[in-house]
Amino acid sequence: MNGKDYYKILGLNKGASEKEIKDAYRRLARKYHPDANPNNKEAEEKFKDIAEAYEVLSDPEKRRKYDAGEMFFGAGGPGPGFGFRDFGGGRTYTFRSGDLGDLGDLFDLFGGLGMGSGRARRPRKGKDVRTSVQISFEDMLRGVTIPLSLVMNSTCSTCGGSGAKPGTIPKTCPQCQGRGTISQDQGLFAFSRPCPQCGGSGKIVEHPCPTCRGRGLVEGTKKINVKIPAGIKDGGNLRFAGKGEAGPPGSVPGDLYVTVNVAPHKYFRRVNSDIYLDLPLTFAEAALGTTVDVPTIDGKVKLKIPAGTQEGRKFRLKGKGAPHVKGKGNGNMIVVAHVDIPKKLSPKERELIEKLREYTSYNPRAYLE
Ligand SMILES: [Zn+2]
Ligand SMILES: [Zn+2]
Repeated sequence: MNGKDYYKILGLNKGASEKEIKDAYRRLARKYHPDANPNNKEAEEKFKDIAEAYEVLSDPEKRRKYDAGEMFFGAGGPGPGFGFRDFGGGRTYTFRSGDLGDLGDLFDLFGGLGMGSGRARRPRKGKDVRTSVQISFEDMLRGVTIPLSLVMNSTCSTCGGSGAKPGTIPKTCPQCQGRGTISQDQGLFAFSRPCPQCGGSGKIVEHPCPTCRGRGLVEGTKKINVKIPAGIKDGGNLRFAGKGEAGPPGSVPGDLYVTVNVAPHKYFRRVNSDIYLDLPLTFAEAALGTTVDVPTIDGKVKLKIPAGTQEGRKFRLKGKGAPHVKGKGNGNMIVVAHVDIPKKLSPKERELIEKLREYTSYNPRAYLE
């Protein structure tokens, strides 16, 4: 078939009854409705297909033609005006009350999707802005405020974002009477979509602002200080609501997303909220025990190394790890002992170690025999 298989979309066989079609539609529309799947393009596409399939198969005449192959619904859908295509562009579905019949409970589920004028419009929003910053390991530990300079649309300061020349007032849009949306009834659904005359703002600017030429926006460099919380992980994302681009008149600004990369430290390693430090010890220190100065995030501390410390032994310094971003307190610091074997020996060292070999009273490989 040149076009979509509406039966397959609804999960039905060709001979499906009216009730089966209705039931399948109810089930699938509920599952894939945009309100139940916010920002899910795939679900949105599915929902469009489901609605399209139902539109055709629930109408005996259309279904007859479709079954007979007299209607080909290619990329353009079943006909002019049946515009599910632009769903992503700010359109919203509204159910037309008369056609709902016992589909009425779908309407309850979708709450805000009122009939007719139920949901006037989604709040329009400026663009989100994404950027990334690199901070040092030390700044990660303490938290830091980073000044950013971002090129973006900001609210025009001459007109305050209204787009109207100072001293003038935008007039109410005659096409939508200031609602910003217009409704179009189509089949089972009615669309409400942004008003083409005012672009959704509900207002018409007769005397545009000279600075922004009526856009309400100016492009420029915006300086924003972003506060990076202590303890953020490498690659962590922060959202600053309302710090993105300003939108057209009457809209709210977008959000700013900042990805934070943390530079590696010279000797600390972070694992979750713990900070690891590799601590080399000479053979003598490990065997005889010692006390060493160990750097921590709060300065040096004395760490007692007991006699007989083995390679890889871990010492935990409570609360000396990275701060928990959410909640209180810090992780721990883990000091990992490593026995350092010298690559070169002085004659004296050689002499003493040879002596040690002579006097060694145990065989570490005894268990292999
Ligand atoms: Zn302006
Ligand atoms: Zn309008």
